[in-house]
Amino acid sequence: MQANIHNSGSKYKKKLFFFFFLIVLIFSLLIGGFQYHQEKAYRREKLEYALNIYTEQVQKLINKKGLLKKNSFSEIDSLRLLIPDRNIRITVLTVKGDVIYDSYVEKLSELDNHLQRPEVQKSLHTTKGSNIRLSGSTGQTYYYYSKYYYSHFVRTALPFNDSVMMFLKANNIFLYFLIGLFGVTVIFLIYATEHFGNSISKLRKFAINVAKNRPIDPNEDFGKTELGEISHQIVKIYRKLSQTKEALVREKEKLIMHLQIAQEGVAVFDKDRNLILWNSHFIDYINYLGNISTHNYQEIFELPELKEINKFINANIKKLKSNYIPNVDIISDKKTVIIGHKLFLYQVVVFQDCNFEISINDITKSENEKIIKQEMTLNIAHELKTPVTAVSGFLETIKDNPTMPEDKKIQFIERSCLQINRLSNLIKDISVLTKMEEAQQLFSVENINIRKILDEMIEDFELKLELSKMKIDLQIPRNLNITGNSELIDSVFRNLIDNSIKYAGKEVKVEIKNYFEDSNYHYFSYSDNGIGISEKHLPRIFERFYRADNGRSRKMGGTGLGLSIVKNAVSFHNGRIFVKPGKEKGVEFFFSLKKQLS
Ligand code: ADP
Repeated sequence: MQANIHNSGSKYKKKLFFFFFLIVLIFSLLIGGFQYHQEKAYRREKLEYALNIYTEQVQKLINKKGLLKKNSFSEIDSLRLLIPDRNIRITVLTVKGDVIYDSYVEKLSELDNHLQRPEVQKSLHTTKGSNIRLSGSTGQTYYYYSKYYYSHFVRTALPFNDSVMMFLKANNIFLYFLIGLFGVTVIFLIYATEHFGNSISKLRKFAINVAKNRPIDPNEDFGKTELGEISHQIVKIYRKLSQTKEALVREKEKLIMHLQIAQEGVAVFDKDRNLILWNSHFIDYINYLGNISTHNYQEIFELPELKEINKFINANIKKLKSNYIPNVDIISDKKTVIIGHKLFLYQVVVFQDCNFEISINDITKSENEKIIKQEMTLNIAHELKTPVTAVSGFLETIKDNPTMPEDKKIQFIERSCLQINRLSNLIKDISVLTKMEEAQQLFSVENINIRKILDEMIEDFELKLELSKMKIDLQIPRNLNITGNSELIDSVFRNLIDNSIKYAGKEVKVEIKNYFEDSNYHYFSYSDNGIGISEKHLPRIFERFYRADNGRSRKMGGTGLGLSIVKNAVSFHNGRIFVKPGKEKGVEFFFSLKKQLS
């Protein structure tokens, strides 16, 4: 693997070198070519400059001496002798191209028309023209230069011999300089590719590893070059980025975890109603609501229960304004044969990116509790009204009948006392129940001895027990301690014993047993062998204000809250209670109390 990377590194370096080498080569060739061309043009210009001077001198001579009119050009021969370049050929042509003078040719009549000669044609258009060509007249190659003077042409020519060729040849010093420069550049290139190539190939390896999700070496040495420094920074930034990404993933996982343990069903959809994020409660609720067993959760938007939600999403997804996150709560109910009447609270939030969240809460329990509380308030009002009406009735009767016999008066007052006693019991029971439900923290927890509580209670009940000839068989160890609230434990046993006294009848036997214990709980049974409670009342006996025998309960000053307090007090001690008919007769309660309340 390492060798592979090394190989690919050197291969890459070679590639890099050849790439730049090619660029430098092309660049050098272009510059060299251009410069060579320029140089040649310059040389030619210089030669033509000299030929132009000769041409001008010939022209001056023609003008001055009126040679054209005379049609005699022998004086040009003398001029030619003055020109340093003895090989020069001078030709004079008429505008029609007929040669009227040529320094090299004696018999002009043998010469053909020169108008079509390239240099002559060129000069006809631009006043001067040049051409290198083999002369048809002399059989030699010349460098011709022709100038057009509107009445005639003057043409000068130099034999294209070695010295002219040498003169026209470009100066190669520049080319040597260029080749030298090219060599230096290549050496620099070798150094640079070697120098930066390592960094580049390592950076390339890093990029490939990142792209392929392979682990990266955080301590990779990219070298001390500027590129190495940049590479280090890139790796640093990449590591920071991946750390942030990992942190984000962790946060997302936490969020998903939170969603999974949340009691509500939550799901996030994109604007095309594709499910992005959800928890199992959401799927459960949706399955329950729509009997959807398909995986296409877009179908849920067709459910009649979600009609309102759908409307809300459609309306808001289009008109999203910045800093405004539309949300709505919709309560809907679903009746099913199996589960019954269930209430759901849907909450919808539409986010800025048009994604939206739907959360579904099963609020059946809390709504039921609300109803129970309302019923309880009504019951309390009703229960309070009865004794208050009775007392005010008795007192008003006494007030309105001053002649009422004394014994009757006492009877009325006694009845009033009984009602007031009932009223006070009612208020006491309601206050205990409310405290247990709303402010459990007000009940202190301490180490309590159950046997001691029971012994003291039986002493309190002594007179009543004697009157009803009731016996209590206590099978509770003396050292039975739990941590709990003594007031509540007292109310458990006091209500049970009080009920047996009130309802079970005469000569009843009560058994209170600690029949079992495990590491966490003590298990108790309470039974009497009295008249018992008919089975139809048993399931509801722990409900508030539920009385099996309404008349007897009221007569005995019962509030209908006793067993409800018992149940709540047991629950406070993390225990459970249930009731069943006694083995032969009477009634039997079983309950557990946690040994150690944390
Ligand atoms: P109350 O304040 O009326 O006593 P409870 O909640 O304590 O209310 O009892 C509910 C009803 O259960 C009583 O009205 C009574 O009819 C019946 N009951 C409770 N305990 C006994 C028992 N030991 N024997 C017979 N009936 C009982």
